[in-house]
Amino acid sequence: MSNSKYLWWNGSQMPWEDATIHVTDIGWSTVGAIFEGIRAYWNEDDQEAYVFRLPEHMKRFEQSMKLVRLEQEYSTEMLTETILELIRANEHREDIYIRPLAYRAGGAGGGFSSFSSKAGILIDTSPRPTHLKTGKKQDACVSSWTRISDNVMPPRVKNISNYRNGQLATMEANINGYDVPLLLNDQRKIAEGPGACVMMVRDGKLITPGVTDSILESITRDAILQIARDDLGLVVEERPIDRTEMYIADEAFMCGTAAEITPVVSVDRYQLGDGNVGPITSQLEDIFLGVLRGTDSRHPDWRTPVGLKQLAKA
Ligand SMILES: *Cc1c(COP(=O)(O)O)cnc(C)c1O
Repeated sequence: MSNSKYLWWNGSQMPWEDATIHVTDIGWSTVGAIFEGIRAYWNEDDQEAYVFRLPEHMKRFEQSMKLVRLEQEYSTEMLTETILELIRANEHREDIYIRPLAYRAGGAGGGFSSFSSKAGILIDTSPRPTHLKTGKKQDACVSSWTRISDNVMPPRVKNISNYRNGQLATMEANINGYDVPLLLNDQRKIAEGPGACVMMVRDGKLITPGVTDSILESITRDAILQIARDDLGLVVEERPIDRTEMYIADEAFMCGTAAEITPVVSVDRYQLGDGNVGPITSQLEDIFLGVLRGTDSRHPDWRTPVGLKQLAKA
């Protein structure tokens, strides 16, 4: 994969090749690092890209930094503007992924205990086409690994260290022939996948674990609950989900910035519905893609225009 032309690092936009660190800096610097995964979607008719829920992502970035005790040297407003500038500089006229990362700066050594609160910040962007409506579907299993809980490593924020938990579960699932693991929390209820939340449909209701069930507080999850309730008129429930409820669900899907909506068609080889993408999942995918691209005018406050249209005119 070829990289974008520019990235932003510690206060300046620079050529991708120029942003280098010494090899001894890797290791402990990422233990307390946090990041955001954000997407922007290209609208051909508008000749514009729209960033999905940018203020919400940047608010979570700020909260994540606070939680891992990193000092915020740059304001959230400044970082938000920086992201839009970077996308314009890279002239991304396509669907993209945007990743701001805050890590513990201050050089090599020191281990994890002599921590400094000084943050290094990196923002990079890369092409990432949507897989919504492409027919992608997954076979899931219930993992033998337990999802981290709030007094172990806070699951609600995107801390790099948290992903070791999801990585172990994914490796196990893949070796055993499944696409994606579902992790149970320490209450032995369904929490989420390794990098995405999970929802199921039972008797026409959309059901997903609550924000205190050891899940990441997903912005996509929140958007889909709103779409289901307001645009589709569905009953939505946020509540603990038993493992065996997943087995008899009519439909299920993963959701998140990376996962978007990814249909799950079996859990532990129990087929859900007829084994195809279910009707409610399919409807949600339709509306969600339209809202993301701005071809559907609903939820305009979720779309931040990048300013590529003006750039083309100038
Ligand atoms: C990023 C992430 C999600 C999805 O969150 P969004 O805000 O929708 O992108 C869910 N679970 C985990 C573990 C994640 O890292």
